Amino acid sequence: AALVTVMFHLGEMATATQSLDESTFQILGEEIGWNIQIVSAEEEDKELLQQFDIDLDGEELQEDEDLKPRPPVVTVMGHVDHGKTRLLDTIRKTNVIEGEAGGITQRIGAYQVTVTLEGERRKITFLDTPGHEAFTAMRARGAELTDVAILVVAADDGVMPQTVEAINHAQAAKVPIVVAVNKIDKPGANPDKVRGQLTEFGLVPEEYGGNTMFVDISAKQNINVDKLLEAVLLTADADLDLRANPNMDARGATIEARLDKGRGAVATVLVQQGTLHVGDAIVAGTSYGRVRAMLDENGKHMEEAAPSTPVQVLGLTSVPTAGDLFLVAPDDRTARQIAEKRQATERAAQLAKRRKIVSLESLKEQ
Ligand code: GDP
Ligand code: MG
Repeated sequence: AALVTVMFHLGEMATATQSLDESTFQILGEEIGWNIQIVSAEEEDKELLQQFDIDLDGEELQEDEDLKPRPPVVTVMGHVDHGKTRLLDTIRKTNVIEGEAGGITQRIGAYQVTVTLEGERRKITFLDTPGHEAFTAMRARGAELTDVAILVVAADDGVMPQTVEAINHAQAAKVPIVVAVNKIDKPGANPDKVRGQLTEFGLVPEEYGGNTMFVDISAKQNINVDKLLEAVLLTADADLDLRANPNMDARGATIEARLDKGRGAVATVLVQQGTLHVGDAIVAGTSYGRVRAMLDENGKHMEEAAPSTPVQVLGLTSVPTAGDLFLVAPDDRTARQIAEKRQATERAAQLAKRRKIVSLESLKEQ
């Protein structure tokens, strides 16, 4: 009631259950001599986790000796119809044929392939999400998922609006780009023209004295796709120091999730830190549960998943949202409590939003 009075003196007719915007809160605070702090939803959640002794910036991520090399996580970007899906399919199929003969692959939003570079077997993780989602919707708390972007440009079409958009996204996120000049099998293909065009966007080919790797490929005929994968690893090695701590409770991002008739909630998660085990108590957004089983993209059961590994997780009691932070809790009870507190916060936020709409509508009626 006191606040309503102050609002009245400020010339605003408010009700006790009304939502106020941030600047009004600040003014109100000054009027009554309170120090108002606006806490973002992210900060609030961090504080919630701290109450359960989970520190997202904990020292297990700082100590050098704890950190071990991890595979790069790669997103394929580019203009529509330039061959992103075809490339992802070619990479996946080629690898499946080499690896698991007869394995039935499913689209689970991410997959891992093995590449031999200079006699060494190395892994690359691909995010198989359409368009630019990996850069926008899936930005889990500022923790970028993508380490390297493959920019696909069709050699018969050249740089197009979404090519430029993709470059902007990657450059803003400081993600190095490897250029795949695609469709070189086509009669009208002009890979040199693409090189010239991209130079204007700061992507200068190595052969022109720049530091961007360009690989001429045909996703359709599987030409040079192996060279493209090598270029990804070479770029990651040259530009990035990709390491993670495998010896801590796992955390990562939810890539996609759905309800399966027989298996319940199925979530694809990308482990970013720690190692995920069958039996771990987990929280993803407002969902919680216990890892009942883990499957790779070939439907093969896994007992554990190290950093940069995408894995399908069974055992959540509800379906989380893509982009949700995913983490292992010390025990089932803690996992449930975190999820329930988040559910309460979400409900309160929805209620506040509804009230705002209702009060605006009643204003209009007056
Ligand atoms: P996206 O929109 O970037 O995902 O493009 P798609 O992968 O769906 O490819 C668009 C069309 O180009 C499809 O008909 C593909 O079969 C075709 N395509 C993709 N890569 C190549 C290629 O290397 N050569 C040729 N000739 N066609 C290709
Ligand atoms: Mg596509």
